[in-house]
Amino acid sequence: MVKGESIQTFVQQIDWKETKMRWGGERLPIVLLRPLAVAALILFLSVSVVFGMEDTTCKKTGIELQILGSGGPVGWDERASSGYLVWANGRPQVMIDAGGGTFLRLHQAGARVKDLKLLSITHFHPDHASDLPALLWSGTLSGMKNLVVSGPSGSKAIPGLKDFLDSLFNAKTGAFPWPKLSGRKPKLRAVETDFQSNSPVKIYKDGNLRVTAVGVPHAKLPTLGYRVDIGGVSVGFGADQAGTGSDYTGFSRAFVKLVQGVDVLVMDFAVSEEVKGGPIRFHAKPSVVGKIAQAVGVRTLVLSHLFKVDGNPNFSLSNLESNLAHLKNHYSGTVVLAEDLKCIEVKKIAKKQ
Ligand SMILES: [Zn+2]
Repeated sequence: MVKGESIQTFVQQIDWKETKMRWGGERLPIVLLRPLAVAALILFLSVSVVFGMEDTTCKKTGIELQILGSGGPVGWDERASSGYLVWANGRPQVMIDAGGGTFLRLHQAGARVKDLKLLSITHFHPDHASDLPALLWSGTLSGMKNLVVSGPSGSKAIPGLKDFLDSLFNAKTGAFPWPKLSGRKPKLRAVETDFQSNSPVKIYKDGNLRVTAVGVPHAKLPTLGYRVDIGGVSVGFGADQAGTGSDYTGFSRAFVKLVQGVDVLVMDFAVSEEVKGGPIRFHAKPSVVGKIAQAVGVRTLVLSHLFKVDGNPNFSLSNLESNLAHLKNHYSGTVVLAEDLKCIEVKKIAKKQ
């Protein structure tokens, strides 16, 4: 860090993935200052914030959460838009969201669409669903026979999952009239869930895999938060949510109930604490994310949906260290910043007596 340079500017300059790669490579002298800088930054932010320093390759044993896309709607920092994959003993089980770039990341992760049991979409903003046709096309041409796809019901203004799929794949009126394109048509079982439900709804059950969902407030867009229970552990996915009740001042009680006691919680960390205006109806402030995580009682909180817009202070990466501080005023567990392909072991941690 150059003297006089703000910590904020410095955070923005760090490319975590490159840092890792270059530490082990010949170009180390060029980036000699990076490890020192990283250490200084970690000290600044406190020891309980975990950055993307560890190996991103899944071990393919036990239950693992892999980040397919850690970004948001605006391209930034080589991040794909939203997507997550839950592995069980090296087998891909559930993919949550299919934002732009997750088609590539899924295959980089070594997973195949046809091996998924469930593809769950939180809502139909493009940064959460735009790679769906590419993923299903990939599955179709590689022998996928069937797949369960879940998503929210529609509102008066916004189509639900079934209408969304129909608009894509209907043989006569779809944008990609499936049978005409390939002669094959995998069976898609659409599980549409009432986004206005205030109590957890069962989405999927197969052996020791159980997926449940509940509506979360994301302005007026039908949106679901998910919980994946598998092999005795659990992961919660907050999706895009204002983290509020109807008045945007509290937090999502139905969602907190859904993910109560999960071992890992993924929350979008999209906006800054000082945000005003429109974005606050769509995304929770850092302090609200912290309150939700604390209320859930989760030990590991993964912050994702990270991006910024040049010249706009409304988004979390515009002032990351300040926003992390606001979050940590309300949450005492471990914070992990998501990065694409990062893998997180999901395990039970004994509660303090
Ligand atoms: Zn959204």
